[in-house]
Amino acid sequence: VIMLGQAEHSKVTTCAYCGVGCSFKAEMKGNEVVRMVPYKDGKANQGHSCVKGRFAWGYATHKDRILNPMIRKSINDPWREVSWEEALSYAASEFRRIQAKHGKDSIGGITSSRCTNEETYLVQKLVRAAFGNNNVDTCARVCHSPTGYGLKQTLGESAGTQTFESVMKSDVILIMGANPAAGHPVFASQIKRRVRQGARLIVIDPRTTEMVKSPHLKADYHLKLRPGTNTAIITALAHVILSEGLQNESYIQERCDLQSYKDWKQFVLREDNSPEAMAAITGVPAEIIRGAARLYATGGNAAIYYGLGVTEHAQGSTTVMGIANLAMCTGNVGREGVGVNPLRGQNNVQGSCDMGSFPHELPGYRHISDSTVRGQFEQAWGVTLNPEPGLRIPNMFDAALDGSFKGLYCEGEDIVQSDPNTQHVAAALQAMECIVVQDLFLNETAKYAHVFLPGSSFLEKDGTFTNAERRISRVRKVMPPKAGKSDWEVTVALAEALGYPMPYNHPSEIMDEIAALTPSFHGVSYDKLEKLGSIQWPCNEAAPEGTPIMHVGSFIRGKGKFINTQYFATDEKVTQRYPLILTTGRILSQYNVGAQTRRTENSQWHSEDRLEIHPHDAEDRGIREGDWVGVESRAGQTVLRATVTEKVQPGVVYTTFHFPESGANVITTDNSDWATNCPEYKVTAVQVMPVTQP
Ligand code: SF4
Repeated sequence: VIMLGQAEHSKVTTCAYCGVGCSFKAEMKGNEVVRMVPYKDGKANQGHSCVKGRFAWGYATHKDRILNPMIRKSINDPWREVSWEEALSYAASEFRRIQAKHGKDSIGGITSSRCTNEETYLVQKLVRAAFGNNNVDTCARVCHSPTGYGLKQTLGESAGTQTFESVMKSDVILIMGANPAAGHPVFASQIKRRVRQGARLIVIDPRTTEMVKSPHLKADYHLKLRPGTNTAIITALAHVILSEGLQNESYIQERCDLQSYKDWKQFVLREDNSPEAMAAITGVPAEIIRGAARLYATGGNAAIYYGLGVTEHAQGSTTVMGIANLAMCTGNVGREGVGVNPLRGQNNVQGSCDMGSFPHELPGYRHISDSTVRGQFEQAWGVTLNPEPGLRIPNMFDAALDGSFKGLYCEGEDIVQSDPNTQHVAAALQAMECIVVQDLFLNETAKYAHVFLPGSSFLEKDGTFTNAERRISRVRKVMPPKAGKSDWEVTVALAEALGYPMPYNHPSEIMDEIAALTPSFHGVSYDKLEKLGSIQWPCNEAAPEGTPIMHVGSFIRGKGKFINTQYFATDEKVTQRYPLILTTGRILSQYNVGAQTRRTENSQWHSEDRLEIHPHDAEDRGIREGDWVGVESRAGQTVLRATVTEKVQPGVVYTTFHFPESGANVITTDNSDWATNCPEYKVTAVQVMPVTQP
């Protein structure tokens, strides 16, 4: 902890980084942060924090913050600082001009998992009520949209089933496609604590992460599979369980849809789903698959935690459903110590999905085509809503290149750096006529913008975040917004400039509206959050103080539904020209595109993205530790420095994506999940060759 002076006052707020959602006490002297202290009564972190959260205030006060609205007619013109009124009225007039010329559906909005629930709710309301279409999406599209789809289909609710604390009752912990030690450090410590107490650990990951082997931890099983074969491995695990009779038949009979179980059982028991058959596809020896399946099914309370290594695949949704199948067939849903738990990358991925920021769903995951639900919102908002789903983010890009999508309002999301195939994204943005970016910094997307609206950091606004365990926590304003407006006030002002007033005085009133219109939030209010500290939804008449564990007694959808998980090889093929598979991930000290952590103390621990390559592949190419290498895919090429390591397997290379100059997403392609269009970031065929220093 760095002491910068004597604190005069403090407020408890929530970390703006990962999906753990740690509570911090911001200690202040006037409007300056003196220090951030992990809050001991924070239910998600119980007084712990990681190296990211502790220094998060650094970016809020960084000199790169843009504090004045700016406009320019063309992206080749210099920015011109203007008043809030001029910027908002210019943005509104441009949006209306585009709609008059190209039609109502020619504009849309993108919100971010870094926004509060209230801000995200306002963005989707602005798009639906003021733009008059459903062209709204969120960056959850590119991370956990398969979770939303897969868990809704099988269990009936698009959310994790447990509290973090529940892991302390687990006997077996299965981590798939996630490295909590880097992405969710405070929760990783809890997992490690439980493993030290004797819980058994299974890790499914193409890479040897800190969760597989570190000074105080060693997994019982590491299924080091080839990237892109998750669906194969999850089906093979199910094959072992069913063929050896390890399923929990009485749980299935009582709680699951029996026709779906019968169909699924028949599918799973096919010989081509056996561990031996899948070993050839996944590269994981059949005996390891068998051992892991037996341990998961018979080792006591078994909990699954998974991350973007599951979702960001062509079969991301299929694997999520495969995970739910495993948990249901072994009776591991509906009590402490078990469950299916997506580890959300960003602080408010769960909340951004809950708040209706998908083009097909209103808040609470209700389809826009449902006339009863639509009618409730129409009455509350005083408009007629379009019953047709709008465009997803990748569809917006395609429509822009077709000439039918011309205007975008983008709040808190750097789509140029974070979405795959940067060249494609940049071309789409260049084809638009008005892009409004609302952010803290002039990010990569702002290079293509015509209006820049200064954003506010988490320290400058009131609101709520919802973490990976569905826990709604307060974000509290500890200093006035540096640019004069909090983000929610900017959206309200833009709506007003568009002729659709949204007369809120405080984010608590926005939450009251969300609660009135969303059954799973009926019981949520700022007063109750003040009293309870935090609330896990559903919070309503049936559960006035919230719901720590979901699906107790029965599934939200009624009977749990098994869904067949046929494996298909991805279209992203390894060839002679592109013989290696690139997969991506994070490191502990940086967060996502790094826009925040690169502007804090964290930059001292990690100042570049590196390419991990196996010693055999490095030797074949004459690459030594620290050499510059060129990485080329079908989408593009970039240059990085190499780290030669056995953490990756032969044939696989790995990098992080925290620095724009390393261009990880210049090389990722725009293949995507069949159900949700979540990009297949985790599988890109590449060639790697030594190059001279760029
Ligand atoms: Fe907690 Fe995540 Fe913030 Fe670290 S980054 S302090 S684990 S919420």
